[in-house]
Amino acid sequence: MIEEQEEDNQCQGCGNIICNPEPLTLTIFNSNTKPIELNFCSWGCVFEVIPEISCDFFVDLPYLKYDDGGGDVNDFLNLIKKP
Ligand SMILES: [Zn+2]
Repeated sequence: MIEEQEEDNQCQGCGNIICNPEPLTLTIFNSNTKPIELNFCSWGCVFEVIPEISCDFFVDLPYLKYDDGGGDVNDFLNLIKKP
């Protein structure tokens, strides 16, 4: 069960402190509870946690960012490219 983080600047995947002032934020929406926001340092950490999420409504994935702060578009594309 994924729970809301106590520290906003801690990555939900690896547990490290996120240096980027705008982390990758994923939001879990369940039908009868308030949304849960989770912050990540990288897309790799997002992909590690997605399978552990239980949800009966939907998950809002992080914005695809075009900077190099540790969670940019290349980080995302490398994870979804076929070998
Ligand atoms: Zn991380």
